[in-house]
Amino acid sequence: MTLLYRSTRGAADNALTASAAILQGLSPDGGLYVPTEQPQLDLDLNELPNMSYQEVAFKVLKAFLTDFTDEEIKSCVDAAYDDKFDDARIAPVTHHGNDYYLELFHGATIAFKDLALSILPHLMTTAAKKNHFKKEIVILTATSGDTGKAAMAGFADVSGTKIIVFYPSQGVSAIQKQQMITQVGENTYVVAINGNFDQAQTNVKEIFNDQAFQAQLATKGFQFSSANSINIGRLVPQVAYYFYAYGQLIKQGGIQNGDTINFSVPTGNFGDILAGYYAKQLGLPVNRLICASNQNNVLTDFFKTGYYDRIRPFFTTTSPSMDILVSSNLERLVFHATGEDATQTAAYMRELEKNGHYQVKPAVLEQLQATFSADFASGDDDQQAIAKVFNQTQFAIDPHTAVAKAVADKYRQATDDHHPMVIVSTASPYKFPNAVLSAIEGHDVTVDGLDAVQQLFDHINVPLPKAIKVLFDAKVRHNTTVQPDDMRAAITKILKID
Ligand SMILES: *Cc1c(COP(=O)(O)O)cnc(C)c1O
Repeated sequence: MTLLYRSTRGAADNALTASAAILQGLSPDGGLYVPTEQPQLDLDLNELPNMSYQEVAFKVLKAFLTDFTDEEIKSCVDAAYDDKFDDARIAPVTHHGNDYYLELFHGATIAFKDLALSILPHLMTTAAKKNHFKKEIVILTATSGDTGKAAMAGFADVSGTKIIVFYPSQGVSAIQKQQMITQVGENTYVVAINGNFDQAQTNVKEIFNDQAFQAQLATKGFQFSSANSINIGRLVPQVAYYFYAYGQLIKQGGIQNGDTINFSVPTGNFGDILAGYYAKQLGLPVNRLICASNQNNVLTDFFKTGYYDRIRPFFTTTSPSMDILVSSNLERLVFHATGEDATQTAAYMRELEKNGHYQVKPAVLEQLQATFSADFASGDDDQQAIAKVFNQTQFAIDPHTAVAKAVADKYRQATDDHHPMVIVSTASPYKFPNAVLSAIEGHDVTVDGLDAVQQLFDHINVPLPKAIKVLFDAKVRHNTTVQPDDMRAAITKILKID
């Protein structure tokens, strides 16, 4: 049986194979690709504790990407999860205080997006071969800081591809900016915009939906694809670490096979936590998925009331990768919660685009609340969580992880639910050294960038990851800044098609 993928906004009879959906990225009707049927995972939970990350990833990918051969999947997995990661377990689970931390920051850019973006280029080039693709793939990405860098690290010098990344010039950390502008690879292009992430993402989506522009590109031998978490090839690899974490908990004696557990997930575009939902659908014993937001708490309100309202102030916080008001992947969950009603989902999304808000029906909200809880952490909550965890356990967490920790604590207090809690830990503290230092020292520090890295190192004594070490003397290679309205022109110029 071949598992097919359909759009959340269109008819199921236009469904594509997994490889075609990966190449397409976003559906032409603006919807996101979702499986037409429940994927069948051939995995015995009893075996999980003794499986390597690569073995778990293989099984999960095989369930979703049924038009790939075993050899193709295996070679993608092996190319992705190798010594680019500084821990052989790839996604280790550690225990500090009462919580487990699923450490997703051991890859090339020390943040969780590496888990998906180190494999996506291999899935894509394999998919291109399978579909007899002749055009050069142009990856177009808007980033709130981490995606773009992780995508470039994955795609740099992969033949048959180019990658163009847009980031908000004021919306990323000093370290993220340094990582971005020093990116190597002859096929990588980085453009700063004078605007915020949502503007960048909205414009990228519009460019993707512009059929005339696509046609113009095609005549020049180019085809756009997306490395954003809307690509099913991003989402599927993330399902693996939820299973892997469960196996680690059994192995460490934290749970017995069959016990249900909670995950608290620091959420922005809703890709990470949606993978947790798919893991649960595939049979992982998950009790609650806790959607943790920062001050941009549009999702907290949505899960509490069913009303999604992006018309609200936008806050720049110390967890910039979650500074998002339009969470793209939520569309997939809404689609599932409506009972896979594409007409209804399309109507909600049209309302969101036109009016900035939509209200789901009570039955849909009930579906959402059956699995998800949601809350948010203010800037103070975030700092306190970093300080508390460090003071009590000597474990330094980054501000995104701290949002998940603060919300997990709030949740336990409000519900008295004491299932084992896995805090999904999405970045290394060295990626946000100023915020972590300020929290640990108990006052705002002015030092930032690599100086802050050095100071933080003196405090926490965790070895510097390679991704940070190289920044100390990397050369600046990208310095273009444009207005949000000029993004299309920037692409035209880069591809020399004007
Ligand atoms: C992207 C990111 C998130 C949010 O993940 P989503 O899949 O967008 O919800 C959280 N933390 C960090 C460090 C990130 O880079």
